Amino acid sequence: MAMKQFKAESKKLLDLMINSIYTNKDIFLRELISNASDAIDKLYFRSLTDNSVKLTKDDFQILLTVNKADRTLTITDNGIGMTKEELEKNLGTIARSGSLDFKAENHAEDIDIIGQFGVGFYSAFMVASRVTVISKAFGSDEAWMWESKGAEGYTLTQTEKAEAGTQIILVIKENTEQDQYDQYLDEYTLVDIVKKYSDYVRYPIRMYREKTRAKEKPADAGDDYKPEYETYTELETLNSMVPLWRRNKSEVTEEEYNRFYKEKFFDYTDPARVITSRTEGTATYNALLFIPGRAPFDYYTREYEKGLQLYASGVLIMDKCPDLLPDHFSFVKGIVDSQDLSLNISREMLQKDSQLKLIRNSLEKKIKNELNAFKNNDREKYEEFFKNFGRQLKFGCYADYGMHSELLKDLLLFFSAKQQKMVTLDEYVEAMPEDQKCIYFAAGESADRLAKLPAAELVLEKGYDLLLLTEDVDEFCLQVLRNYKEKEFKNVNSGDLGLESEEEKKAAEEASAESKELFEAMQKALGDKVKAVKVSTRLKNHPVCLSSEGPLSIEMEKVLRQQPGAEGVKSDKVLELNAQHPVFAVLKAAQESGDTEKLEKYTKLLFDQALLIEGLPIEDPVAYAQAVCELMK
Ligand code: ADP
Repeated sequence: MAMKQFKAESKKLLDLMINSIYTNKDIFLRELISNASDAIDKLYFRSLTDNSVKLTKDDFQILLTVNKADRTLTITDNGIGMTKEELEKNLGTIARSGSLDFKAENHAEDIDIIGQFGVGFYSAFMVASRVTVISKAFGSDEAWMWESKGAEGYTLTQTEKAEAGTQIILVIKENTEQDQYDQYLDEYTLVDIVKKYSDYVRYPIRMYREKTRAKEKPADAGDDYKPEYETYTELETLNSMVPLWRRNKSEVTEEEYNRFYKEKFFDYTDPARVITSRTEGTATYNALLFIPGRAPFDYYTREYEKGLQLYASGVLIMDKCPDLLPDHFSFVKGIVDSQDLSLNISREMLQKDSQLKLIRNSLEKKIKNELNAFKNNDREKYEEFFKNFGRQLKFGCYADYGMHSELLKDLLLFFSAKQQKMVTLDEYVEAMPEDQKCIYFAAGESADRLAKLPAAELVLEKGYDLLLLTEDVDEFCLQVLRNYKEKEFKNVNSGDLGLESEEEKKAAEEASAESKELFEAMQKALGDKVKAVKVSTRLKNHPVCLSSEGPLSIEMEKVLRQQPGAEGVKSDKVLELNAQHPVFAVLKAAQESGDTEKLEKYTKLLFDQALLIEGLPIEDPVAYAQAVCELMK
C-alpha cells in the first residue's frame, strides 16, 4: 500500500502541530468533538427530510473510549461519515490555510491565534503519534480507513464498519520531559476538557466510566456487617448540552462567555460587552450578543459583512443573517435562537419573514438600551467602545435622512474644548450657562488647531463650551440632528454666532454701511468666490477670516470634495474683515484714491490667506507666492 503525500500547506500545518508551537494541547479534543458534532448535524438535518435515515434525535451521540493498555483514545460518532474521496480531500489537504497565512503575518500573536481559531483535525497530531480514521459515509456500503503518523504522509485502505459514522483512534504519545501526554488517557482529565470546551455541544458526549458502589446488604447480615464494594461501568453523559445562549446569565461565568465569543467569532480579544436577551410574546427568541473589544480590520470597508447566527430551535439555519441587524449596529456579533422559525426556511423566505422583522426590531431596542447602560455605568470602557464603533453610530444618525437619529443621538460622544474630554450632547446642554442659546462646534482636522480659530476663542472666552469635531462625518451628523433639547447646533464659522451684543452688531452694521463701496469693489474682484464681504464681529487680532452662510459649511465642502463626482460642491462663503486692523485702513485708502489695481491684488491676497487659515487649498499658489514676494521687495 503506497504512502500518499500531504499537500504542501497541510505539511506546514502538520509541522506546526507536531512541533507543538501551541502550548494548549487540550484543544485537540474540542476540535475532534466539534467535527463529530458537525457530522451528526448533517445527518440529523437529512433525517428531517429523508426517511431512509433510521436514527432520531435521541440516537445520536459522540462516544469517547479509553484503552490505557493500548494507549488509545477513540472518538466515535454516528454522523454522516466520509467516503473514500472525502477522506482524501478533507484529511489530505487543508482548505483553510487561512489560519496559516494569518500566523505568518502576525508573528507576535501567533501562539494565541492558533489557539483561538479552529485548528481542526490536524491538532490530533499534537497528542497522538498515530491517527487512524475509520469512516463509513451514510448511504454507502463501503468503509475506509485513513491512517497517518504525521508529516510523511498517509495510507488509505478499505475496511469493514457496520454503521455510518466516523471513528478516530488516537495512539497517545509517550510522556516527555515537558509534556504529560498520559493525562489524555485519564478519565478525569477528559471530563474536564469536555466540560470546559464542549459543554454546549448539542449531542451527548458519552464515556464509560468505572464506578464503585456498595454491594447490597445481605438480608441475614448482622449488626457488625461491613459493606462490601464492587466496581461497575456506567455510560455517562459529560456535557450539559444546553447551549450557552439558553442558560441564565447568572449561571455563566464571564470566562465562559469570553471563550465562547472568541472561538465562535474568531477574535482574539475579549468582547467589550455581553448582551443576553430572552423574549416571549410577539417574538420568542433567545439572543446572546457581543460587542467586540476592537474593530475588525475590515470593519469600515465594503468587505465587512454584518449578521447574526440564526438558529431555529437550537439548529443552525444561517451563519450570518444580515436582516437581524440594522446597519448602525453592524458591529454586533452573536446568536439568535428562535422557536418561531421553520427549520427549512430559505434565504429568500427569511427576508420576507415577519417574525424575523419582529426579532430585528426587538434586538435593535435591546442593543440601544444596553449601549446606553454601558455608557452610564462604565464610561471609560464605553469611550473605548466609541473609539472603535462611534463612527458607525454617527453614520447611522446621518443615514436614511436621519431616520435613526432619535434612537442614536444619546449614544454619541464629542470632544469638549472646555472640559478636554468626551461628552454626550446631554452633558453639554446640562452644563450650558443660562444665557447660552446654541450648542457651538468647530469642525476640522485637528482639535488643537480648531481651538485656536478666532471664532472658537471667542466662544470659549464667553465661558461657553465648544465641541471640537474632527471626523468627517461629524458635522453631517449634527446637521441631520438639527438641534438637541431644542438647542440649535451652531458652527463657529457660520455667519451669525449669536454672541455679539446689540451694540457690537450695530457698530459692525454701521461700519459695513460706511464701507459699502469698498466691499462692493472687493466682491467684484473675487467674482463668485464669495457671497459677500463684510465687517467682522469676531476678529480681534487677525485681518480676515471666512464664514459661511447657508446649510453647507466650509468643512463640509472640504469633506464632500473628497468624494468622486462632488468637485462642484461649494459653500456660500463670506469674507469677513477686521475693521480695527491696519490692513483695513490700507484697503480703504486704495479704494478712496481710486487705485483699483492695488485693491484687487490685496483683496485676492487676503482671500487666499483666509482660505489657508481654514485649511482649504488656494486656487493659484504660485501667483500667491509671487504676490507676497513682490510686497517684500
Ligand atoms: P474544519 O472542521 O474546520 O472544516 P478539519 O480539518 O477539522 O476542518 O476537518 C476537515 C473536514 O473533514 C471537515 O470539514 C469535514 O468535512 C471532514 N470531517 C472531519 N471530521 C469528520 C467527522 N468526524 N465526520 C465527518 N466528516 C468529518
